[in-house]
Amino acid sequence: SSWWDHVEPAAKDPILGVTEAFLADPSPEKVNVGVGAYRDDDGKPVVLECVREAERRIAGNLNMEYLPMGGSIKMIEESLKLAYGEDSELIKDKHIAAIQALSGTGACRVFADFQRRFLPDSQIYIPVPTWANHHNIWRDAHVSQRTFHYYHPETRGLDFAAMMDDIKNAPNGSFFLLHACAHNPTGVDPSEDQWREISYQFKVKNHFPFFDMAYQGFASGDPERDAKAIRIFLDDGHMIGCAQSYAKNMGLYGQRVGCLSLLCENEIQAVSVKSQLQQIARPMYSNPPVHGALVVSIILSDPELKAMWLKEVKIGMFCYSGLKPDQVDRLTNEFHIYMTRNGRISMAGVTTGNVGYLANAIHEVTK
Ligand code: PMP
Repeated sequence: SSWWDHVEPAAKDPILGVTEAFLADPSPEKVNVGVGAYRDDDGKPVVLECVREAERRIAGNLNMEYLPMGGSIKMIEESLKLAYGEDSELIKDKHIAAIQALSGTGACRVFADFQRRFLPDSQIYIPVPTWANHHNIWRDAHVSQRTFHYYHPETRGLDFAAMMDDIKNAPNGSFFLLHACAHNPTGVDPSEDQWREISYQFKVKNHFPFFDMAYQGFASGDPERDAKAIRIFLDDGHMIGCAQSYAKNMGLYGQRVGCLSLLCENEIQAVSVKSQLQQIARPMYSNPPVHGALVVSIILSDPELKAMWLKEVKIGMFCYSGLKPDQVDRLTNEFHIYMTRNGRISMAGVTTGNVGYLANAIHEVTK
């Protein structure tokens, strides 16, 4: 017998497992609309022109030194401007504790660990449905989870009344995970007025809003407009937390570049909080990778490249189709079409070559 006899295979990841199954399928007709990554019309990966240009500028000049524990100061500064506003006083007054994170996942995870370490009795309220990994992240950080109503399947819209009830019924001072824009997987976001009501009720209840912003720019096509929910909460004086990712909106998936920020009462508090965030990162991965952070800082700090990015980001990604799990299973088993079982279609996987095949197959399983 060996050391690891008792180790059973882990459950397949509901999202990444789809791609594994797709790759293993020998059918020439197979279609992958599971993966959340951009593809060109031949199904090939896409790199944004602004990223190509930033890389040309880096080429030859990049050394391989460690970044500071908290990551690239410049990347963090640019990220905060994107989320909190170009001219935000909160940034100028240094009220925000922020570190570069291993993309959105890493930002959520460091926050969850921070929450557990400094408010060990707190819980996190997570919307139904949500990106499946949220559950894993807070579970592994040993923060207990509750859910709140979000999506209304019959109207294919927001279940605003039920959501507000859950917010009101949660114990005062609860932590809520909010998708800042382009909710994954439904694509359903509260309207501005609804965000105002949510923010108001959070004030009444003294809840903590943690914004996961993995798709800034993908909801409206404009990163500034997509930050609206956050800005509303800031105007109302909330001490928010925010996870930012450049995986999708800059197509930097594998570079793992993102930012975790926590708004604090004052600069002294922000310094303390940042030092603790860094201390959580130190034994996990010490400091974050340098290349993607440099690409992001170059793009966001150069007006020409930023303008280029703003043009390139005007795109969306997912369609929450309403297909049921058994219909998705039929699509996969009978038509070699791969997607997550919640019926989410990644539009990036739809090409002129497969759109007819896909449409016909969807018709077959839904008629
Ligand atoms: N949050 C949400 C809601 C997401 O959809 C994603 C990407 N699938 C992430 C966070 C994090 O992705 P990444 O770690 O690649 O930035």
